[in-house]
Amino acid sequence: MSTWDKQTSSSDEHSFNALPEPSPTTLSAPHWDACKRNQLLAQQCHSCQQFVFPPQPFCPHCVTDTLAWQRSPGKGRIYSFTEIHRPQTPAYSTPYVAAIIELDEGWHMLSNIIDSPATLLSINQRVEVVFIERGASKIPCFRRTL
Ligand SMILES: [Zn+2]
Repeated sequence: MSTWDKQTSSSDEHSFNALPEPSPTTLSAPHWDACKRNQLLAQQCHSCQQFVFPPQPFCPHCVTDTLAWQRSPGKGRIYSFTEIHRPQTPAYSTPYVAAIIELDEGWHMLSNIIDSPATLLSINQRVEVVFIERGASKIPCFRRTL
């Protein structure tokens, strides 16, 4: 077996049988590092004040490079959601809820709703971020609030 075969085999096994973990890039590392501290960060444009997520090298609203990381309180509402019954890999236990969250600052994030079945969720329902350990990282998920 060549080195390539070992790497391919190991990679395939990992991606199929384990929940995926973040692979931070230089651009996204500040976000993932903050998650480890139970903090949610998004970029904000100094020129037009718009929030930007996922991380970008330039503001997609005004095309300047004046983005800076800002801490979000992590509160928002469910913009859209769906209940997943057929997982990408056997590592996921089903059903689970995937959702687009609209944060109160106006930016959107694809995440999961935890602690609530889909039957108890609705569009515009208030949610807050909660950080779930996954390997050496933490994943920002959301749960219902009153
Ligand atoms: Zn801008």
